[in-house]
Amino acid sequence: MSLEQKIKQMAHSNASEVIANRHHLHSYPELSFQEYKTAAFIAQKLKEIGLSPQEGIANTGVVALIEGRNPASKVIGLRADIDALPIFEQNDVSYKSTNEGVMHACGHDVHTSSLLGAAKILNQLKDEFEGTIKLVFQPAEEKAPGGASIMIKEGVLENPKVGSMLGQHVAPNIPVGKIGFREGMYMASTDELYLTIKGKGGHGAMPDQLIDPVLIASHTIVALQQIISRNRKPASPSVLSFGRFIADGVTNVIPNEVTIQGTFRCMDEEWREDGLKRMKKMAEGMAEAMGGSCEFTVVKGYPFLKNHPELTRRMKQEAIAYMGQENVIDLDLWMAGEDFAFYSQVVDACFYRLGTRNEARGIISGVHTPTFDIDESALEIGPGLMSWLAIRELSTRS
Ligand SMILES: [Zn+2]
Ligand SMILES: [Zn+2]
Repeated sequence: MSLEQKIKQMAHSNASEVIANRHHLHSYPELSFQEYKTAAFIAQKLKEIGLSPQEGIANTGVVALIEGRNPASKVIGLRADIDALPIFEQNDVSYKSTNEGVMHACGHDVHTSSLLGAAKILNQLKDEFEGTIKLVFQPAEEKAPGGASIMIKEGVLENPKVGSMLGQHVAPNIPVGKIGFREGMYMASTDELYLTIKGKGGHGAMPDQLIDPVLIASHTIVALQQIISRNRKPASPSVLSFGRFIADGVTNVIPNEVTIQGTFRCMDEEWREDGLKRMKKMAEGMAEAMGGSCEFTVVKGYPFLKNHPELTRRMKQEAIAYMGQENVIDLDLWMAGEDFAFYSQVVDACFYRLGTRNEARGIISGVHTPTFDIDESALEIGPGLMSWLAIRELSTRS
């Protein structure tokens, strides 16, 4: 029997177990940096497979190694994020969240159960590959500074040193049975902007005696958008959006200050730094020129996610071999953020999408919504494909 057939058979016979694990995780979701029961569950399952998990990395992270022949020859990391979101689940399912107000609405239960499934397959096949597979169960994808950055600081990519890294994420916009890849830049950096614009409030009938922070803030928003349109290289994707503008006066009362909050996203680390510097200078200078002041605070988020071109090309070809040409699609750029980006900045990385949509069954809700769910046939595809990609990549001599 070929390796592909073996993996497919194992993925098929393990599917009910992977689904049961997903249901357990879905029923007991935990928020970012608080995934204690989740981590214990993962460690327990890894021990049942026969592995020796290392717990407590980034507090609630779990790592385990599967060593094939000649284990030092090459190391590939497989990452699953494990945290849930502060959302009240509205699905009426047997595995509905029992932790009210917390829900696996981004599919991290799917990623975790999939990687546990892949671990079982890969451990059974460890005589068939050379090198080491590092399983990385990572906390807190959803919350800055992101569990990935902490795991990297705590050495997850060392001992043994990881050469390449794969991450799989559910895609409710892609039909189940299909997989999506994109080479190069894929997801955006995510920085939060907090501006407090101060003036001098008073009666709206006497603007000449005041410093109007509402007008300063309005000019500021327009001016900052001009930085995006005038200073950014046109070929470099970038977004600046302000979702909060609080000027708490009334029709005839100008307030003392205005607060604005927004998000700046891009796919170029140099431009990211340059853009932020320009925005700060513009906002502060604009306020000063108009007689007020501006406190400009940036809360740095994740870097942009770049898929290593050669690795991604190879993984796409291997996915075609496993799934068929018609089931492998190209992804568009996406200006959302993902902390897998931290790995992609330091090792060869490939972050790909696992289709989970089933329109006929009404499984169409987006991630981060209270009705998000998946077509669980993805739980046979996910572990099998990841196992296949890992073994094929380990057998590539580079
Ligand atoms: Zn998410
Ligand atoms: Zn996610």
